[in-house]
Amino acid sequence: MNTYKGKVDFHKDECVLCQTCAFVCPAGAINISCIKPQESYDFIIWHNTCTLCGNCAYFCPTGAIYLSNDLAQATPQSEKYTAITANMVEYGACTQCHAPLINVPQSMLQKGFKNVTEELTSLFSLCPQCRRDHTFAKRVL
Ligand code: SF4
Ligand code: SF4
Repeated sequence: MNTYKGKVDFHKDECVLCQTCAFVCPAGAINISCIKPQESYDFIIWHNTCTLCGNCAYFCPTGAIYLSNDLAQATPQSEKYTAITANMVEYGACTQCHAPLINVPQSMLQKGFKNVTEELTSLFSLCPQCRRDHTFAKRVL
């Protein structure tokens, strides 16, 4: 049975702003632009130019962008030239020093590590500098 693929959809909490999807989109249907550096980005999908090729979903490292099989998500004919999905992707903050940080979603940790422990998750909630300090202190002290 064919699964209906009606629309490209997006989970902003899973996005790490790598911009791979925009790079591989042959239709130029994805636009990611900075609103405030190190704070927030606009993430726009233009459904009128999307060809549903699936490249974005295939190459996205986290599964943040995907082809929805939810019929209720389909774009009505009347909106076929104007439909967009607009999201704002916001930075998080380092849990130690509060420096801006792109959150690493669980889906990405699960792809990279066999066991995603609490300690590992908390390490990835630190900025690179605090992560280095934490690891150094653990090994040396
Ligand atoms: S499905 Fe293809 S055309 Fe549509 S947004 Fe993704 S990469 Fe672009
Ligand atoms: S949707 Fe996926 S590929 Fe696109 S910027 Fe976000 S994490 Fe990267």
